[in-house]
Amino acid sequence: MLIVQKYGGTSVGDLDRIQNVANRVAKTAQEGHQVVVVVSAMSGETNKLIAYAEHYTPTPARDEVDMLLSSGERVTAALLSIALNAMGHKAVSMSGRAAGIVTDAVHTKARIEHIDPSQMRREIDEGKIVVIAGFQGVNESGRVTTLGRGGSDLSAVAVAGALQADLCEIYTDVDGVYTTDPRIEPKAKKIDRISYDEMLELASLGAKVLQNRSVELAKKLNVNLVTRSSFSDAEGTLITKEENIMEQPVVSGIALDKNQARISMRGVIDRPGIASDIFGALASANVNVDMIIQTVGQDGMTNLGFTVPKTELNDAKAVTDRFIDKLEIKGAECDDSICKVSIVGVGMKSHTGVAAKAFSTMASENINIMMISTSEIKISMVIQEKYAELAVRSLHAAYRLDQ
Ligand code: ADP
Ligand code: ASP
Ligand code: MG
Repeated sequence: MLIVQKYGGTSVGDLDRIQNVANRVAKTAQEGHQVVVVVSAMSGETNKLIAYAEHYTPTPARDEVDMLLSSGERVTAALLSIALNAMGHKAVSMSGRAAGIVTDAVHTKARIEHIDPSQMRREIDEGKIVVIAGFQGVNESGRVTTLGRGGSDLSAVAVAGALQADLCEIYTDVDGVYTTDPRIEPKAKKIDRISYDEMLELASLGAKVLQNRSVELAKKLNVNLVTRSSFSDAEGTLITKEENIMEQPVVSGIALDKNQARISMRGVIDRPGIASDIFGALASANVNVDMIIQTVGQDGMTNLGFTVPKTELNDAKAVTDRFIDKLEIKGAECDDSICKVSIVGVGMKSHTGVAAKAFSTMASENINIMMISTSEIKISMVIQEKYAELAVRSLHAAYRLDQ
């Protein structure tokens, strides 16, 4: 089999842990498999590098940030290859560029456009273990790009797709995907199998055990994806097609996203095209808008609220300020002390009362819901950040996920 194994930051967190990864990779190779490894930077490294850049300015040039951040994964790729070679294995490390990963030019959150796997192929055919620096690629003009936080998962899935690997294993510091973050609710249960769609919702709504775009791509390319622990031999979680799962629970999991902020625009001129203008400008500024609420207009004015990732709040504020200058908005207040809790489950499609239970659970804890949004398989609520953990634990219990 050709197996792609991705090891996250904690799994390569120090030199001993890199040795532990080398041992695992070597074992897989000794079992007769071809192995391609994708690595993250050592845990904390990416944050440290971002802080370095922000030492000089709160808005460092994004292409330089990418140049800086991409170094973190290159360090671990080289160290892992050195460790494997020292053990007598033939291994070679590669940057994203050498692995043929070509992206668009949206620095710090680039999208992979295509992969030229020829160099990886050559090395694999020569019997080598290929170790790829995750999280990075190169754009058409040859500049290094990075794929957004948690992006090494995406590198792994994309490489697995390009090489038509039999399996893509994501090794992390938990045994698999749980009904909620086990760090918040120790009673959370490991899920043996979960559908791509539910995993995509959980990941998009804050469960960082997998990066959402990696799940999206795995679904598209039909990659067999497994998450498991690099610290144990426990069986992990298989992310697969819905039809491969026998019994669908109504609710599969609870997700929490603390990287959320809200902007409330007051006195928005109520004319056709205003929403298109504001949200078009936000899209052009590469701001990811999530929930939107508009209240009923009065006297030619309306109020519009929306949420964005905290990390994009400054960019979003710059856009709304332009509309204030143009006198199309009276004011815009930012609130970054909010979070979003979500309930996910494909079984919701055929059950009633799921949303009502979420709201009554919040009510019984005296937690005020500021925004709500729903889809066929999820319910999301924006609440004050200080209630985040309480909300997750009470919802987890209310839907009996600990049973
Ligand atoms: P890595 O560095 O290996 O990529 P991450 O820190 O990105 O690891 O993701 C693993 C973490 O995701 C876990 O330590 C856990 O706290 C968190 N997490 C959040 N939600 C879940 C969930 N539903 N199941 C498992 N882990 C989760
Ligand atoms: N090192 C990057 C990050 O911390 C990418 C990754 O770990 O997947 O976001
Ligand atoms: Mg991760």
